[in-house]
Amino acid sequence: MSAENTCPYCHNSIASESIKCPYCGKALKYDVSENILNVQIEVYSKAIERNPQNPDLYLKRARALHSLNNNDMALKDAQKALALYQDVYNTAGISRAVIVIENITGEKYFHKNKKSE
Ligand SMILES: [Zn+2]
Repeated sequence: MSAENTCPYCHNSIASESIKCPYCGKALKYDVSENILNVQIEVYSKAIERNPQNPDLYLKRARALHSLNNNDMALKDAQKALALYQDVYNTAGISRAVIVIENITGEKYFHKNKKSE
């Protein structure tokens, strides 16, 4: 992601953190939601530091990362959540994690468990 953005209204170059275009004064909705997602990711990251075994937090962060098109990290979080749900046999959680993984990859997810270890 670049540090520069283009205003969709006047097409001037503006900083990606801008909430409002300094040239035409229009509010930049997409940058606002991007900021919110970044704040959410920070909050989830801090919560994960305190509760590293809570799969819900990884899944929430995965959704936020996916919304920012950060799909590599989103997939890692979703897979971590899936593994934690599997550890406690949380079938509802497993289903949610699989849906998130499928949204990120755009493919059907097949369980690769039950292999000899
Ligand atoms: Zn503008």
